[in-house]
Amino acid sequence: MPGGVNSPVRAMGSIGRDPIFVERGLGAELTDVDGRSYVDYVCSWGPLIAGHAHPEVVAAVTAAAARGTSYGAPTEGEVALAEQVRARMPSAEMLRMTSSGTEAAMSAVRLARAATGRDAVVKFAGAYHGHVDGLLADAGSGLATHGIPASPGVTSAQAADTTVVAWNDRDGVDRALSERPPAAILCEPYPANMGLVPPAEGFLAFLRERSQASGSLLVFDEVISGFRVARGGAQEREGVLPDLTILGKVIGGGLPAAAYAGRRDLMELVAPAGQVYQAGTLSGNPLAVAAGLATLALLDSKAYERLARTTRALAEGLAAVAREVGASVQVPWLPGLLTVFFSQGPVTDYAAARACDTAAYGAFCRAMLEHGVYPPPSQFEAWFPSLAHGEEHLERTLTAARPAFGASL
Ligand SMILES: *Cc1c(COP(=O)(O)O)cnc(C)c1O
Repeated sequence: MPGGVNSPVRAMGSIGRDPIFVERGLGAELTDVDGRSYVDYVCSWGPLIAGHAHPEVVAAVTAAAARGTSYGAPTEGEVALAEQVRARMPSAEMLRMTSSGTEAAMSAVRLARAATGRDAVVKFAGAYHGHVDGLLADAGSGLATHGIPASPGVTSAQAADTTVVAWNDRDGVDRALSERPPAAILCEPYPANMGLVPPAEGFLAFLRERSQASGSLLVFDEVISGFRVARGGAQEREGVLPDLTILGKVIGGGLPAAAYAGRRDLMELVAPAGQVYQAGTLSGNPLAVAAGLATLALLDSKAYERLARTTRALAEGLAAVAREVGASVQVPWLPGLLTVFFSQGPVTDYAAARACDTAAYGAFCRAMLEHGVYPPPSQFEAWFPSLAHGEEHLERTLTAARPAFGASL
């Protein structure tokens, strides 16, 4: 396997160590093949909002497996999941499931191009929308971790159709829209693949207004924020409704599922209702649908209150320990995710994220792992506390953070 892994950030190369090989996970904890256990804040990079091996998710998947693992024909579970999404996200009038967020993003862009008759797409520096050819420029996530500005193998035609704008840069958006009106303005409403960099006040509403005025679609990539930051994702928290939404991670409850969703008139362009082709052998897979439904069933208002409490305590606790030790960090957070930026000042865009002290982050992260806590092994990824993280886990985390921040100095 290239780099020994099946997805780049797992390799832990950027923090200067070998990957952890996992033996099992339960609740908020992971055990590696050497028998060491960790409080896990990677949580599969976002899907596991209920923690590892939640009994209700395991029971749902097991029962589904016993009825057959795939049919290539519709099931009632898919309808139930679509209804759950629609109930939580009013902008999602119709949806189509895929197996990965990458596929969903690729399909949403195809749909936006078909609907508008335009080729260009505006995306933001540091935003990641999966490894879609045209969206890999300044793409955050594993590319940021490994210092890859844009991937070789992307054709110049694909690259030329993407305009990259700095996050929170209103003038940059206006310039991009007037130079070449795009099919879509594509954003993570809460960017979390350059570390967590929430939008400036009013920026999402500005994007909504400008996309309407320029005849382009507003596409929210809520693969991370969907069902995590609130029942209805970032669009509910911010009160800004996109034309299309990309979903993934939590919607599959730890199994491969994703979706794109949005306005009925747009979604009805997708085959076989319309002419925009998109398909998948395992799309709407019954095991993934069962895991997604079981996970969403756990996410009531109490769950979101708990997740917000846990995340706040973790973020404020980490910031306090860093202050005491004398490490300069910023810890932005939203319910269910946070980032520890090794930065003197606030991080508001990709340039500021990239200016962080990644060597200090690496030393901090290695020391956390030594002390039994598993943060994301990259400055440019978010921590994902889950509903399974309790006081005991927070205590263990903050105890480990003291020597770990010390090691970063
Ligand atoms: C993870 C992620 C994707 C890609 O999803 P995959 O299932 O890994 O293909 C797309 N967009 C965002 C915002 C993500 O965080």
